[in-house]
Amino acid sequence: MVSLNHRAAGTAPSATMAWAAAPCLHPDPVDLTVGEPEGPPPLEVREAAARAALEGRARYGPAAGLPALRALLAEDLTRRDRAPRSAENILVTAGGKPAILDALRCILEPGDEVMIFAPYWPSFRDQVLWAGGTPVIVPPGPGLLPAPGALEQALSPRTRAVILNQPANPTGRAWDSARLRDLARVVLERDLWVILDQVYGTLTYDGPETPLLLTCPELQDRTILVESFSKRFAMTGYRLGAAAGPPGAIKAMTSLGTTSVTHACMISQHAGITALQLDGTWERSVVDALRERRDRLQAGLSTIPGVACGLPEGAIYLFPRVSDWMEAHGVASDLELAALLRDQAGVKVLPGTPFGAPGHLRFSFATSLEAVALALVRLQGFFGRP
Ligand code: PMP
Repeated sequence: MVSLNHRAAGTAPSATMAWAAAPCLHPDPVDLTVGEPEGPPPLEVREAAARAALEGRARYGPAAGLPALRALLAEDLTRRDRAPRSAENILVTAGGKPAILDALRCILEPGDEVMIFAPYWPSFRDQVLWAGGTPVIVPPGPGLLPAPGALEQALSPRTRAVILNQPANPTGRAWDSARLRDLARVVLERDLWVILDQVYGTLTYDGPETPLLLTCPELQDRTILVESFSKRFAMTGYRLGAAAGPPGAIKAMTSLGTTSVTHACMISQHAGITALQLDGTWERSVVDALRERRDRLQAGLSTIPGVACGLPEGAIYLFPRVSDWMEAHGVASDLELAALLRDQAGVKVLPGTPFGAPGHLRFSFATSLEAVALALVRLQGFFGRP
């Protein structure tokens, strides 16, 4: 048979997607695997998409995205992190994923190392590999954040970039300003790039978001910020996101994009313009609803002996440590435990191992309160067994 190259031959489909799609023996499971907000995007956004399609505003467009959308994105990001930007700093992309992959493809030479902080979103590692780089995983310290000095220990002469996901999938944790400043010091000393994944940036529950560039503006000319409409406006299937960075990087990523997707879907771009012009009421109500679900699920999980669950600052996930329970009950791995929960308890969650954190489980709380309540009853029944 004609062979594939070494990258293609060594890859598997996304571990988390495969797990979520696996067959389930329980007749009526509650699904807490999903990484997307419950419910549709705001009505105005759906109407804007429909209008753009009906009116035929869906022909080829500018490679970097509609100028009005780029200007709105520049304004929105600058309002959030005060880093000055204009449209030339912005590329509209077909979601956050291609923004990360194309950034890596534009900055890595073969074998360059990219730091990824565990627990991590598995696509980061895969994307670095597809871009010809080498992922280097920085282990977590207390609170699932990196311990002081962990980044320095993982550095090598080949280190070229770090990926920071703020707040993070799967932990929901956001780094405090002391950690961000430490990171900035190392990044500047070692002349590194930062890929800053802010796709959950607006989903923060206990105060304003803590954008890296607000704390460390000196990193702006070496940071490629990744933004998405998927989580913020529940526009997952619209495939709309953005990269914000220095003009040279944005220009290179734009050229790269013209060789694959050409540009993000025009219908989605028109919808995105409407989303960014909303007055924030819809977003606030979603954050309030998510906070209530986070609090309920965390409070319920915290009553279970052997399950240690903190309260994360943002995103849509809880990532409790279940290793004590596993040890006490002779369950060998979180993969086995997640399968038992799925098939016996009827609660679908993701195991921690694909996120680089064995002994943990990922629960999405982007679901209904009824689903959270039913899941808790089932979980308490399952974990409470002698
Ligand atoms: N970054 C992180 C951390 C994510 O969890 C996801 C989606 N699960 C993405 C980026 C990509 O989202 P999208 O491509 O839909 O914008």
